[in-house]
Amino acid sequence: MSIDFEIPPEAKAVRERVRQWVQDECKPAEKALLAGGDYKTILGELRAKARAQGLWCPFIPVEHGGMGLGPLANALVQMELGESYLGALSMNTQGPDDATMMTLLAHGTEYQKEKFLKPLLNGEKRICYSMTEKAAGADATGMQTTAVKDGNENYILNGEKWFSSAASVADIALVMAKTDPDAPRHQRYSTFIVELPNPGYRIIRDIETMAAEGPLSHILGGGHSEIEIKDLVVPAENLLGGEGNGFNMGQHRLAYGRLRHGMHNVAMAQKALDLATAHVVKRETFGKKLKDRQGVQWMLADCASELYMARLMLIHIAYKAEKGMDLRQENSIAKVFLAHMVHKVVDTAIQLHGALGYSMDTPLARWYTHIRSQRLVDGPDEVHRWTVGRNVIKAYERDGTTAAAAGGDII
Ligand SMILES: Cc1cc2nc3c(=O)[nH]c(=O)nc-3n(C[C@H](O)[C@H](O)[C@H](O)COP(=O)(O)OP(=O)(O)OC[C@H]3O[C@@H](n4cnc5c(N)ncnc54)[C@H](O)[C@@H]3O)c2cc1C
Repeated sequence: MSIDFEIPPEAKAVRERVRQWVQDECKPAEKALLAGGDYKTILGELRAKARAQGLWCPFIPVEHGGMGLGPLANALVQMELGESYLGALSMNTQGPDDATMMTLLAHGTEYQKEKFLKPLLNGEKRICYSMTEKAAGADATGMQTTAVKDGNENYILNGEKWFSSAASVADIALVMAKTDPDAPRHQRYSTFIVELPNPGYRIIRDIETMAAEGPLSHILGGGHSEIEIKDLVVPAENLLGGEGNGFNMGQHRLAYGRLRHGMHNVAMAQKALDLATAHVVKRETFGKKLKDRQGVQWMLADCASELYMARLMLIHIAYKAEKGMDLRQENSIAKVFLAHMVHKVVDTAIQLHGALGYSMDTPLARWYTHIRSQRLVDGPDEVHRWTVGRNVIKAYERDGTTAAAAGGDII
């Protein structure tokens, strides 16, 4: 079988439509927002237009109102949307909602799908995901929040959560809590659907972070909240996926989310490289254009190499997903690589802009402070590298070579 990088015509066509959509609609809307326009009106109009054109929930099956795109077409679309703050939001494919919708779709009961998933798919509500606690993040099996059954009707949850993204703009939260402390580590936790606002789920604050905040940051991203969970009453019918399955469902959700971040990183890095190149072709120092310096060309070359590798990784992973192949090793490798890639490219773009790059007159400085989180969220670098390294050793012990753990099946 030959290796074929030809993108199917229908995937190419949808990418082209979304590319146009971002340039023609999202970017002007972003400008209007920054000029003081009303967020709800602007986003509402944008979403109505997107939906009317069939640009809605790219990876959700058609029967649920989405576009039903497969992994490759979805990856191509996401790589376009990352260029505008309103890109993913306009098509109702923003995090953390999108991966959480997938969890509901895969594990929800008919009642849960009707009551909670439908309004999410319609863009009428937003959802957040509360797993991490101060007590436990990278090793989520250390979560302390408990859920105790109160007769047959309700669970009562007590504990705390930390860094729940978008909680302050969400109407629903998926909350993980310990239902069986004596079960094997990965079967101790369950996931609960919590309607917000709720007196038992109290947002203490949106945590101040290193990310440069604009006037719209909290509206667009919803901040990252610290939450007190006190005598939170959850009806038993809001248990998602059965007792003890919370952890596995969370991992399923994270596996998709990790890739989506990486896809948006490609769009951002591409834009950063474009900005850097546009700057060096104009800027002159010591009697020469920056573009004519070999040292500068090398910097651009390194960025181009990073982007090329990033795209190849994503396309290869999409290919494996299309075929239903095991992609866990590649997912972890790519998750780490893409987070570093965007960091390196944006950093280089700042360097080439000089003081202008450090200012807020270009988007680069803001991006730089945002993307630092990419090396922490959805599993920090070290945890993924730990998994990848263990798989390298396993492959060696099994096959006498590490190739299977190092992309060896490509050739
Ligand atoms: C911007 C942002 C948004 C987030 N959004 C959400 C959200 O919506 N919902 C949610 O539930 N959580 C969210 N999180 C939390 C995120 O998932 C955790 O921060 C992450 O899992 C790491 O956990 P931790 O911060 O507790 O770090 P810890 O678990 O304390 O780890 C600290 C550091 O120790 C090192 N480390 C840990 N384990 C190992 C190991 N085995 N080997 C070597 N080194 C190791 C790593 O360097 C790691 O960064 C978000 C975090 C951020 C920054």
